[in-house]
Amino acid sequence: MNLEDRGQEKLFEKQAQIYPQRVWGTYRKLKWIAMTVLFAIYYAVPWIRWDRGPSAPDQAVLIDMHGRRAYFFFIEIWPQEVYYLAAILIFSALMLFAVTSLFGRVWCGYTCPQTVWTDLFVWVERIVQGDRNARLRLDHGKWTFNKIWKKLLTHILWIFIGVTTGGAWVFYFNDAYVLWDQIIHFDISWDVGGWIVALTASTYIMAGFAREQVCTYMCPYARFQSAMFDEDTLIIGYDETRGEERGKHKKGTSWDDRGDCIDCKQCVNVCPTGIDIRDGLQMDCIACGLCVDACNNIMDKIDRPRGLIRYDTLRHIEEGTTVVWQHFLRPRTIFYIVLFSILGGLVFYGLTHRALLELHVSHDRNPLFVKMSDGRIRNGYDIKILNKTHKDHLYKLDVSGIEVLDQKFRGVADVSKKGLFVFANSIGQFKLFIFSNEQKEQRKNVVFKVKEVNDETEADQTTIFISRKKDR
Ligand code: SF4
Ligand code: SF4
Repeated sequence: MNLEDRGQEKLFEKQAQIYPQRVWGTYRKLKWIAMTVLFAIYYAVPWIRWDRGPSAPDQAVLIDMHGRRAYFFFIEIWPQEVYYLAAILIFSALMLFAVTSLFGRVWCGYTCPQTVWTDLFVWVERIVQGDRNARLRLDHGKWTFNKIWKKLLTHILWIFIGVTTGGAWVFYFNDAYVLWDQIIHFDISWDVGGWIVALTASTYIMAGFAREQVCTYMCPYARFQSAMFDEDTLIIGYDETRGEERGKHKKGTSWDDRGDCIDCKQCVNVCPTGIDIRDGLQMDCIACGLCVDACNNIMDKIDRPRGLIRYDTLRHIEEGTTVVWQHFLRPRTIFYIVLFSILGGLVFYGLTHRALLELHVSHDRNPLFVKMSDGRIRNGYDIKILNKTHKDHLYKLDVSGIEVLDQKFRGVADVSKKGLFVFANSIGQFKLFIFSNEQKEQRKNVVFKVKEVNDETEADQTTIFISRKKDR
């Protein structure tokens, strides 16, 4: 006996399949344009070249895991500068907040990869299996030859899109031209193959099956975006005052004492998340605007004014009072815009003025010092010189703060009398021992300075010279 038979409430409802209907209109056109532009960017960017000289890759956008560098046109990020990535992520989040507070969930409706790929998958499904009613009939009908080949073809095309998605993704992590040559000769490494398979599978599952459930149950942004909303944020809304009392309408009869909504449910049928916007603003609404197009088409047909469902502010829909400055100039929009402008400016300045030479010196932890038989004190240091330019360089090292009686480099080939040699776009690592007299202080500050022999670029770091154990 199941719960319902026992008179108890059923707490779980199976997810109902959604069959979005085809629709024409302004927002649908915008979605096609956004999709085309985004796909063009996604697939074209890895093929763009950017000359950085012989010591660095010439791919404009590349995350070089083996070389431990991220390249983005003129920007180059080393692992030591990962804070830039954190700053860029914070900047992107603030920009998203600002856009959301101004224009609502446009990110969700037009540019989120989940939306874009799902849109493409639904389009493929519609081309092969037909529009909403045909797909409903096919799914509820018996397994005939017609159903089998249509389903099979749909899944083959979905997998093909998944492969091209994963295939394009790996180009961002490898030289696109070299990798393409390897792919067509079936000569790829296991990690590249693994990533293509993983992205093919995730695209196929997310856009083919999970679809709106990702937005409704998985996406954290859907949960907290309401915190950025107020009555002056643009949303997709149903004008209840104008639409109610809803009901069927017979051609030629009066519109008096009734609303403009003829309860045709076209707005529900086209909705990719399957909701009824007439129930009010909901978390599931991704603001794609397709219900606006559907309703406007109906209004045109029944000769009523467009905009029963529209892209508008809540205040305007309810009170009819929003003015343009009120929408754009609100404390929250100003706050977000100022914040992301400041952070964006700082990140841009940092990236365009980053030091091309860095010096990292770390004092030996064990032993902290060694007392030589002649009474001199020896301290050991690991020195890293980061040459971020695309030219080889020779550096002179200078130590100040103590009297250096002797200095010895150990086990390093690239040290000569002329200086310390570091290849372009790489890190020179050196082990140095400094000898000095015992100092008055247990720990004395010393300054290490490296200077490029020819162009006088320099970097320094303060560290310590230890002479004896801690005074007790
Ligand atoms: S499409 Fe417009 S008229 Fe039709 S049900 Fe939706 S709101 Fe009402
Ligand atoms: S309610 Fe309208 S805007 Fe919201 S997701 Fe559905 S179709 Fe898109």
